Amino acid sequence: MLNSMNAPQREAVKYLDGPLLVLAGAGSGKTRVITQKISYLINEAGYAPKEIAAITFTNKAALEMQERVGKLMQGTNIKGLTIATFHSLGLQMLRAEASLLGYKPQFSILDSSDSFKILADVLATTDKQLLRKTQWQISSWKNAFINPDQAKAQADEELTHAAARVYQIYQQTLKAYQAVDFDDLIKLPVELFEQHEEALNKWQRKLQYLLIDEYQDTNACQYKLVKMLTGLRGQFTAVGDDDQAIYGWRGADVENLRQLTTDFSKLKVIKLEQNYRSTVRILRAANQVISNNPKLFEKKLWSELGTGDLIQVTAAMSEEHEAESVVMKLQAHKFEHRTFYKDYAILYRGNHQARILEQHLRNHKIPYTVSGGQSFFDKAEIKDLISYLRLIANEDDDPAFIRAATTPKKGIGNTTLERLGEYASAHKISLFAAAFEGGFQSEIGNKQLEDLLNFCQYINKLQTRAVRDPANEVLNDLLSSIHYEAFLYDSEEPRAAEVKWANVLDFTGWLSKKGEPSTEYGNEKEGKNLLELTQMVSLMSMLEGRENGEPDAVKLSTLHASKGLEFGHVFLIGAEEGILPHRESIDNDKIEEERRLMYVGITRAQKSLNISWCKKRKRAGEMEMCEPSRFIAEIPKDDLRHFGNPFNKDPEASKDFGKSKMANIRAMLNKQ
Ligand code: ATP
Ligand code: MG
Repeated sequence: MLNSMNAPQREAVKYLDGPLLVLAGAGSGKTRVITQKISYLINEAGYAPKEIAAITFTNKAALEMQERVGKLMQGTNIKGLTIATFHSLGLQMLRAEASLLGYKPQFSILDSSDSFKILADVLATTDKQLLRKTQWQISSWKNAFINPDQAKAQADEELTHAAARVYQIYQQTLKAYQAVDFDDLIKLPVELFEQHEEALNKWQRKLQYLLIDEYQDTNACQYKLVKMLTGLRGQFTAVGDDDQAIYGWRGADVENLRQLTTDFSKLKVIKLEQNYRSTVRILRAANQVISNNPKLFEKKLWSELGTGDLIQVTAAMSEEHEAESVVMKLQAHKFEHRTFYKDYAILYRGNHQARILEQHLRNHKIPYTVSGGQSFFDKAEIKDLISYLRLIANEDDDPAFIRAATTPKKGIGNTTLERLGEYASAHKISLFAAAFEGGFQSEIGNKQLEDLLNFCQYINKLQTRAVRDPANEVLNDLLSSIHYEAFLYDSEEPRAAEVKWANVLDFTGWLSKKGEPSTEYGNEKEGKNLLELTQMVSLMSMLEGRENGEPDAVKLSTLHASKGLEFGHVFLIGAEEGILPHRESIDNDKIEEERRLMYVGITRAQKSLNISWCKKRKRAGEMEMCEPSRFIAEIPKDDLRHFGNPFNKDPEASKDFGKSKMANIRAMLNKQ
């Protein structure tokens, strides 16, 4: 097995004498070191699978790693091995120790729109900007492991002071709902381990070896968790690349890499220098671009994969034109090289850039999947169902109560809910509990009370069934009792209702299918009851979600969500000043992080890279002239070929965006 690795990779896999950091550029096999090391730990070093946890940055990365390890270790029983994101590992620990923190194990996980609504209530405002700012501030505090009291003590201006007060009330509200938010999934385990040494000891004993991918993007809280879990033993392997740190805006701190060297005096550092992913030109472009950033660590990167094609730079007239040119080029390239759709990725800075591409891909009947965009779980119909699941699992989850009680409508009106809300907050109980209180019941009419109690009693009934019956059975009964299909057809156009109902069936089918993502490898969905599935689903809905299962499809992705992945051919669109680098980053002097984003984009490509930018773009309803991204100018000229540039004398190059080539191909096809 180790023969397929180069010498430093092999050294990294075999090194078990203490903490290890593998610091290396893109495509040098860092993730491969992790998968191989898992296999080495189990097969050679005598670790039990359940003693190992590999932590990845995204759900998708976890899935891919599970798959790779599964293949690598065919025939070996790896039940109990954890390959998960920080958040799902946090969930696993929190669920096991919930009672120590005053939570029940079926606590709810709120999504960002739920916490937004709670903040709107606390602040009694609808000012979206203020709410977003507050939400961001609270999240930053949590990621930095700062509690409300510390936040108050630190606040030096009125606005942060106000946010700190809101932070405290927000936390109390979450606790009352028996709910946690996304950031709590990391922060609460750290708190738990600080307060309960026996719990920490237990998890330290359980997880004997930690492996962490994409280490450069951990935040202070995640770093704390790693340090606590590995303890004095310090048995871990972290792999990372400071040039790919792109989550500074979410509190990730690349300084954590440097911090490792001071916190662990015995830290061994191994560097990898051979890139196994990209052609020489692509790698040279990436190296050259990133050389404009100050260096944290010195790294070299080289490739033996041949010079490769020139990197194409297309100046499009408009966004429409850019989308069309990408689609044309892609089809021509696919036809010429006999590739598959799945060999192509179209990457962009912001989610909104996907829409126009989707349109053009649909027009040309090209299959595609979008990742990093609106997740499947964000769809209203799926959130409706999830709200029922959450309420069944945790009746104190007020946001879920409100959604489920009102969708579809079941005679529970706003007045009833307002009364219920008032009573519940006055008595510091949940909405669900308030419904059964005599004090509240005497305040509303008989018919209203009957409808409300019918609903609550129905939820009670499902709670009993949830622990006993298979999840999909309970769910199917639920769907028919609430007449959800009819509700969709009543409230939507028939076409839209059809799509939504198909999504619902897709969701219930997916819940009952085996072998899908879980926090632990081999821990299949089938064995889980509805209550356990609910937390898993809530978590998935906040990570980047699942894609539809189209096996051969062009991948559309934000640059952020493309981290760690590789594609034969990459189209990087919208390479303009104001987009990449992003306008806000230019204004706030954050160019270096944008440059790292460009570096991540370039290094996703194995064989070919197409960069495009628009000369004009609509912004706030007005057409604006645009400038090409400064990062294009940082790529060596000899590795570039420009298209659509009036100053370019190359007659081949002036053929518009491969359109003529496409026309030739069409003509050929017609003749056949
Ligand atoms: P990134 O920084 O983008 O996450 P990485 O350093 O994690 O990249 P990998 O994804 O592990 O790199 O590897 C890049 C590609 O090179 C993969 O296709 C991997 O299988 C291949 N690869 C890595 N090491 C070797 C090797 N020794 N021999 C052959 N192929 C290799
Ligand atoms: Mg990787």
